[in-house]
Amino acid sequence: MPLRSDWSHSTCSIAHAADVLADPWVLLVLRELFSHRTGFDEIRDATGAADSVLARRLRTLAEHGLVVRRVGGGYDLTEAGRATLPILHAYARFTAATDPDGPWGLRIACALCGSEAVTADWCPACAAPLTAETTTWSRPSMGGEPFRLVAEVAA
Ligand SMILES: [Zn+2]
Repeated sequence: MPLRSDWSHSTCSIAHAADVLADPWVLLVLRELFSHRTGFDEIRDATGAADSVLARRLRTLAEHGLVVRRVGGGYDLTEAGRATLPILHAYARFTAATDPDGPWGLRIACALCGSEAVTADWCPACAAPLTAETTTWSRPSMGGEPFRLVAEVAA
C-alpha cells in the first residue's frame, strides 16, 4: 500500500508540486545542494539520511529535472531546481515567524545589498528578487560566514 496518494497528475498546481517536493528528505537534500554540498556522502552526512533514502530522493529529483548527476559524481541543481529556493525560504520564514525565540541559525540575506531577508523571494531593502544568484545564506553548521548559493557566472 502506498504511503500516500499520487498527485502527479493533479490539475492543482500546489498538489502537483507537493507530489515531488512535500517530503522532508527532499527539502533537506535541496538545502544541502544550495549549500554546495553536492557529493552523495556529503549530503548523506549533512542530512543523516540512510543511503537508500538519499538515493531514492536524488533519483526522484533527477527524474523531475531538478538535479543532474555530474560526470564523475556529485549532483548539481538545474535551473528548475534553483527555482525551489523560495520554497525553502518560506519554510525558514514560517519557522521564524511561529517561533521567533527559537534557536534558528540559518540567516538569509540579499547578496546585492546585504540586508537580511524577511520574505521568501524578494529583498525589501533593494527590491531585488532573491534568486540563487542573488542570495547568501549563513549556517552555524558551516562556520556561520555568509556564502553565495550559486557562484557568480563569469562574464
Ligand atoms: Zn537587497
